[in-house]
Amino acid sequence: MAAAQDTHQASQETELFAPPADFAAAAHVPSFEAYQELHRRSLEDPEGFWREITDGFTWFKPWTQLQEGKPPFVKWFVDGETNISVNCLDRHVEAGRGDRVAYYWEGEPGDTRVVTYADLLTDVQRFANALKAQGLESGDRVVLYMPMVPELPVAMLACARLGVVHSVVFGGFSADAIRDRVNDAGARMIITADGGWRRGRVIPLKGNVDAALADDACPSVEGVIVLKRCENDIGWVDGRDVWWGDAIAGQSEVCPPAQLPAEHPLYILYTSGTTGKPKGVVHAQAGYMVYTALTSKLIFDLRDDDIYWCTADIGWVTGHSYIVYGILANGISGVMYEGAPNHPAEDRFWEIVEKYRVTVFYTAPTAIRTFVRWGDHHPQGRDLSSLRLLGTVGEPINPDAWLWYHRVIGGGRCPIVDTWWQTETGGVLITPLPGATTLKPGSATLPFPGVEPAVVGEDGEPVPDGHRGLLIIKRAWPSMLRGIYQEGWGQPGHPGEYGDSERLIETYWEKFPGRYLTGDGAVRDADGYYWVIGRVDDTLSVAGHRIGTAEVESALVSHPSVAESAVVGAPDPITGEFISAFVTLRAEVDGSDELQAELIAHVGQVLGRFACPKQLRFTDALPKTRSGKIMRRLLRDIAAGREVVGDTTTLEDLSVLAALRGDEE
Ligand code: ATP
Ligand code: MG
Repeated sequence: MAAAQDTHQASQETELFAPPADFAAAAHVPSFEAYQELHRRSLEDPEGFWREITDGFTWFKPWTQLQEGKPPFVKWFVDGETNISVNCLDRHVEAGRGDRVAYYWEGEPGDTRVVTYADLLTDVQRFANALKAQGLESGDRVVLYMPMVPELPVAMLACARLGVVHSVVFGGFSADAIRDRVNDAGARMIITADGGWRRGRVIPLKGNVDAALADDACPSVEGVIVLKRCENDIGWVDGRDVWWGDAIAGQSEVCPPAQLPAEHPLYILYTSGTTGKPKGVVHAQAGYMVYTALTSKLIFDLRDDDIYWCTADIGWVTGHSYIVYGILANGISGVMYEGAPNHPAEDRFWEIVEKYRVTVFYTAPTAIRTFVRWGDHHPQGRDLSSLRLLGTVGEPINPDAWLWYHRVIGGGRCPIVDTWWQTETGGVLITPLPGATTLKPGSATLPFPGVEPAVVGEDGEPVPDGHRGLLIIKRAWPSMLRGIYQEGWGQPGHPGEYGDSERLIETYWEKFPGRYLTGDGAVRDADGYYWVIGRVDDTLSVAGHRIGTAEVESALVSHPSVAESAVVGAPDPITGEFISAFVTLRAEVDGSDELQAELIAHVGQVLGRFACPKQLRFTDALPKTRSGKIMRRLLRDIAAGREVVGDTTTLEDLSVLAALRGDEE
């Protein structure tokens, strides 16, 4: 019995979804055997595998040495020289594909724009010249705090063209969060806009920047470039602030790209802050370029005629890798959307899919669970027949949400790629390849070529298949984080070439030297499929049984009344920990004592009595990060009746916390 309780439920009784034959026939990786062969070759002959891939890129100087150093400090394509902006833009324009659309941009209120690859290249070069004219040089850091408008990728690519390191701060963040990130990165400049549109209202981006910079709180900042977007009233500091339009006026449309060493830092990006203080993750030009381009191509099975739409904000790593760099490197047309999923109506996403005939759609479980709650009539009222492939990222997807996505959005015909990765990994590491992999709802399935994961116990030894353990990655991959940014990094005389080496080693490498600790708990099943069951920090330990938060949450979500749930452990003098559940119900359902008892019993039926929540409360909303992830660390405090402590700067809506705390009294 104990053994049965220790194994993972979901992996045992799952419906399988083989790749549809017509999909597989046309796919880049058309069979499971082809995937296995690719994966085998990538591990046995990395040199040959990556040579073949990198030959497709433009290099100023081709690499001769694949790798140097040992984890955590591995350099890739060591002596090569390239520039990612050339590979995202010039390469396509020079090949005669400049007229192809890079972005179909859909903004508020009713604004639209179509930007071709040729347009983008011109805009990038002109803005790069403007940055040069402002005195920026290779290695300088610049913070971008912008709405979802085409000028955001323009600014990113312009920085990349010069070797300037960008740090995008999501436009939903407050002045405090901007200040912390600007100071951590030592940014010389901030690029922002007067405002950004959100549900018909203007978000005062420039006002937030002014507040962040007030009282000389960010001494490294010399200038602020301001894009005119909303024409709202803003404050102005003469000598510091420059309009985007004035900055580019008279600038040449030609800006030769910097010939950068492969390891030149491309950007700093702060993690979502789901578990604690955000970390400034640094990625390098070449390894990141090659890996995001290859994962884009094979996971989204990209073809020339695709219309690809990733709904993430570019302020998160998903947007960096799979709206900007990886997708542009493939010369694909994408949709970029400025607004919210429920403005002006709850079918906004499906309206956009219908309008642009989107073929590949990539979103997050939090969005899918919200759509379930809003009701099937929204997607059913739109023509979604153009879709051929769906994707998800950000959290474990509950099997029931997966099945809904497959049936209602994908019409039962579209494979779903459940992509597991992190800000630190730069690109997707565990994922199906849609023409090759038989899908199991709720599993991210198998490692991408070049990736060697394992599930191990505290002793570092693999746990038997079907048992819970720690997800680790056993060898370096090209887009692995190069460091956690620390002030002074890269400056002469600074000791650590890789920034905050201590925090880097302590967080990811100390527990199992030479192997990357992901911080996630997982199960590998008998077919070698990986099931991510939540963060290790969140793992529940009840009367000697360990269980992942995702397992209990999925059990709750499999009840027809439940839209979403979050589960945490609270201290219990007898069992060590008891399970406390927070539940949001579907729109048409009301909470009651009977339903509460029914849901607790339901978990017992699905998982076993040991997994039953002792406490279950209904709530209108769960506390989430601005990227939409459940912040269980805050719920843990509430469940234990403690004061909520720790960093809440990445929390989306503080009123959710207040409401939950109110419940308590
Ligand atoms: P922080 O590191 O600051 O706490 P974060 O981990 O939420 O924030 P990200 O790098 O955006 O920041 O998220 C990566 C994490 O998201 C993964 O470690 C994992 O827990 C979760 N995740 C992402 N994709 C998946 C997926 N497909 N299945 C399960 N979990 C996923
Ligand atoms: Mg993380």
